[in-house]
This record gives sequence, C-alpha cells and structure tokens, in this order.
Amino acid sequence: MLIERLHSHESDVGGLPVRRALPNRGRRTVGAWCFADHAGPGDLPPERRMKVGPHPHTGLATFSWMIEGEVMHRDSLGSAQVLRPGQVNLMTAGHGISHSEESLTERIHLAQLWIALPDAERDRAPNFQHFAALPRLAVEQGWDATLLIGEFGGQRSPVPSFTPLLGVDLVASGPACARLDLTPGHEHGFMVLEGEVELALEGHDAVERVVPGELLYVAPGCPAAELRCAAASRLLLLGGEPFQPTPLLWWNFVGREPAEMPVWAEDWAREDGGRFGQVAGFDGPRIPAPPVPQLRRPG
Ligand code: MN
Repeated sequence: MLIERLHSHESDVGGLPVRRALPNRGRRTVGAWCFADHAGPGDLPPERRMKVGPHPHTGLATFSWMIEGEVMHRDSLGSAQVLRPGQVNLMTAGHGISHSEESLTERIHLAQLWIALPDAERDRAPNFQHFAALPRLAVEQGWDATLLIGEFGGQRSPVPSFTPLLGVDLVASGPACARLDLTPGHEHGFMVLEGEVELALEGHDAVERVVPGELLYVAPGCPAAELRCAAASRLLLLGGEPFQPTPLLWWNFVGREPAEMPVWAEDWAREDGGRFGQVAGFDGPRIPAPPVPQLRRPG
C-alpha cells in the first residue's frame, strides 16, 4: 500500500501561520481536494486583520471550515454571510464568481480547502451555500468528530459534492484512540492541525506519527485506520475517489489547459462584471491577477 508523507509549505500572512498541504510537489490532489490551507490558530490585532479584497475563481468549489473566530464572506451573487465556528461556507465557482473575505475577530483558526469540479460541472452556474450546523459523529474513546462532507459512520453531511468526497474533523481534548472504517476504493489524507497523532493503517506495518505541517497520504486499498493521541490533538481526514483528469491550478483558477488561464485573467481585468460579476459592500480594492506565466498541461 502506497503511503506518502507530504510536508506543507509554511508561510506567515500578516502574523498568522498558514500551512499549505495541497497542492504539493509530490501530489496535486486527494480525491477532488486540490488545495488545502490551514490558517492559524493565531491572533491578529485589528490593524492587521485578514482582509482579502474581491478576487475571482473558476472551476472549483471553495470549502471554508471555521474552527475559531469569525470571517465575513461577500460574493458577486449578493451573498453576505458571517462564518462562525462549527460552520461551513461552500462557494461553487463553476463558470466564474468573485468574492471577498475579512476577519471580524482577532482570533482566527480555519481550514480553507478547494474542491476541483469534474468536467461535466466545471462550467456550471455559480452558487453559494452556508451550513450553520453539521452532523456530529459518535467516535469512541475520546475523539469528537464532525462530518464536514460525504458519508461516514452511517451519516451523511448536508454539504453536497459532485464526486465521491469525504471530510471529517476529529478532535480530542486528551488521550484518545479510535478505529475508523475507510472506503477501500478511495484515497485518503490525514492532515494534522494540532497536537500529534499516531496512525496505524490496516495493511501497513509501521505506525506513522503525524504532526502539524504534515499530511499523510494513503492510496486506495486501506480499509481501516486506528488513530491514537496522547494529548489534545486535531486532524482533518480528507478522502475521495481519485480525481481525473489532473486539474491545472493557477492563481485562483482551476482548469485543464494552460490556454484557459489568460482568458480568465483578461475577463477579470476587464472589470465589466461579465464572467465574474461584482462584489458589493467590501471597503477596499479588488485584487488584480498576476502576469500569466508559461504553464504546462498537468500530467
Ligand atoms: Mn477566494
């Protein structure tokens, strides 16, 4: 069974640590998950609050999971939605959308994930959905779990996806141990956000110790995993059917062909509200696209 340890790219955004697990040099996707940022936990004083001006997206759904703090989302469909702890915002860009995000609290801790849309859906009309509450799963021996997307433990999340996908938030306040049944045909990623987690994967001899800044990728064929921690820990379990074809990511766009990117960048630069609409209510400038570099078709 193929297992890969992916190291996140770590940066500091105005004093907030951000760890990017996907895309990674060695791996672009886990299921349809094609981008995974873990921001915080941290505190930003009011003068350095997170304030991301209007910018466009295509071909993806952005999935925001708030752990601590509050963020205001505005988009070109007219949505204005505060995202609070325990809630998910799902913004399906499809053909094109634009949005802004700004923190309303000093405390910030969230996972910002992107889901690649399959060929049949990537040109669809944009959509925004807010989920104020998500199913809690009973996981034995110290773990509390929230089902973010997909089906797990006999429950189904209200958050929809176009391809078979899984997202589970697992948190323990002290020593904990649990066995999770996995879908053997899916690939999985164990992304540790806090603490330290030991993973015993069925069919794999070694016990893998995973810490924040790492994602343990497990290829299809693993039927179950045992999760152990000795102290307070949190991780995201991401999974899904392996995604084909490999998406091409550039800036805020998810496509297939290099030639798509300059078209979208020019649509955004025109500011005519065509493909990407207009974001109302945000106090600040929109973010211009950087110059489009030479890109190669992913393969
Ligand atoms: Mn965005």
